[in-house]
Amino acid sequence: PDPKENVQNTPDILATHLKTTGGQIITRFPPEPNGYLHIGHAKAMHLDFGYAKKNGGKCYLRFDDTNPEKESQEYIDSIIDSVKWLGHEPCEITYSSQYFDELYNLAIELIKRGHAYVCHQTAGEIKEGREKMLDSPWRNRSVEENLKLFEDMKDGKYEEGKAILRMKGDMKHANPCMRDLIAYRIKYHAHPVSGDKWVIYPSYDYTHCLVDSLENITHSLCTLEFEVRRLSYNWLIDVLGLYRPVVWEYARLNLTHTVLSKRKIITLVNTKVVSGWDDPRLSTLNAFRRKGYTPECINAFCETIGVTRTNNTSLPYELLEFHARQDLNDKATRAMVVLDPIKVVITNFPEGTTDDIRVANIPHLADAGHHTVPFSSVVYIERADFRMVDSSDYFGLAPNKEILLKYAYNIRCNEVITDAAGKVTELRVTYDKTNANKTKAIHWVSSRHGEAPVPVEIRLYDHLFLDEDLGDDWLQKINPKSLEVIPNAVADVTVLGSKTYTRFQFERTGYFCCDKDSTDSKLVFNRITSLKESKEK
Ligand code: ATP
Ligand code: MG
Ligand code: MG
Repeated sequence: PDPKENVQNTPDILATHLKTTGGQIITRFPPEPNGYLHIGHAKAMHLDFGYAKKNGGKCYLRFDDTNPEKESQEYIDSIIDSVKWLGHEPCEITYSSQYFDELYNLAIELIKRGHAYVCHQTAGEIKEGREKMLDSPWRNRSVEENLKLFEDMKDGKYEEGKAILRMKGDMKHANPCMRDLIAYRIKYHAHPVSGDKWVIYPSYDYTHCLVDSLENITHSLCTLEFEVRRLSYNWLIDVLGLYRPVVWEYARLNLTHTVLSKRKIITLVNTKVVSGWDDPRLSTLNAFRRKGYTPECINAFCETIGVTRTNNTSLPYELLEFHARQDLNDKATRAMVVLDPIKVVITNFPEGTTDDIRVANIPHLADAGHHTVPFSSVVYIERADFRMVDSSDYFGLAPNKEILLKYAYNIRCNEVITDAAGKVTELRVTYDKTNANKTKAIHWVSSRHGEAPVPVEIRLYDHLFLDEDLGDDWLQKINPKSLEVIPNAVADVTVLGSKTYTRFQFERTGYFCCDKDSTDSKLVFNRITSLKESKEK
């Protein structure tokens, strides 16, 4: 038989819901506070908050906090912060733990109705019993005995693992989720919200559906791996005679070249593969934010991917980068930064003077204004924009060749100075103020006469994992070159005064965002993405 038999939602259930809630759509986003949110949760939020919003309803942010040993206030705070950052507005922040009294009373009711029993099997025995479809020897205790033993559990009369409350489903059921799931277990562990009030904690399977019901959720959206649990979700609510939400499943988001699982992300943080939860190479929302992604970009990505029920396909990471470019093209002020500078001396530039060069903030947006950058006799260009031997497909500088410095003047290279090892250390050029009509131009950095250009550190990121799709050996697939630090780049004055999250388009190099590691003496910029999709970034 189909393990998902008897679990279809019917339109009349929805009609009942709408009666219960006065016609309002009510959803919830139910993270467990056992880690930081990742981009997969952005999809979940987009559906949970988005569906409610589109229908004039409301959405709870509910912390599903029933495993105190893995949960913490730090995670709760970071989740609230990420939800806000993406612009979602919970109607209320709730905690499964705030219903612990009601859930306890419902467990007593469940025992009284003959649908739960206290069991003393070990974890191994329970697993084996489920596999072999064998009843627990404790399954047929009297209601009175179960009530007494459950109270003993609550009063701390058992050690951890010595007694659990199990739902009395059907050990022979084709769906393993009906084979006497755990409702309560003993944990001598303080809880981040309820403190040490409880030593018994309800399981996910027991809690989630009941709190959905208590909050009058109309549409309980969850990822496909919970589909098999829909039967037990409905069963528990029905045997207690409670209001039952509609459950809708959708596919988990997977992205190429990264892991979307709090457990795996914790491993990367704890083993110091990355610098922390907000390391820009991670898939956490804090990481995307630090790297420079905007909430608008992430929400646009979520809108594009929509609700799908196809599982096990990874979406290309490049799709996120596409949305980042789309969003930043209209938002990021242009600036010029030279990553690997060669000094260029303009020998015919008027001694002791500085020109002010006008640069459009965002060239295709007339209203975006402009800024000026200084130009004097010393200019820096990229080492990659100079070659000793010219060729027809190359528009950079070469000996005796004239090129345009973007927004400024033409220069002609007259002399190349090298060190003992043959490395180019300086170029001597002359400039031509009247002849600036080339279509291709290179970027540059200069400064006021006699001053040094602005020093900046640049961080370039590549995928954290080499493979698109990762299997069990994901930890063996870490890209050793996922971060390239360029400590001594130079920038034009436009970047001065940047705060954390100030974003720019650095001409020809990509979109960049000011990092929190910046100091008064050196600004640090993360590359959000290159300007075009390319294989070699
Ligand atoms: P993880 O495995 O990363 O810990 P989880 O499913 O345990 O994820 P929860 O905090 O319990 O994470 O999830 C909160 C909500 O977000 C749930 O409804 C869950 O189904 C959904 N969710 C989690 N990961 C994804 C994902 N990759 N794509 C879409 N939705 C997700
Ligand atoms: Mg979870
Ligand atoms: Mg999980």
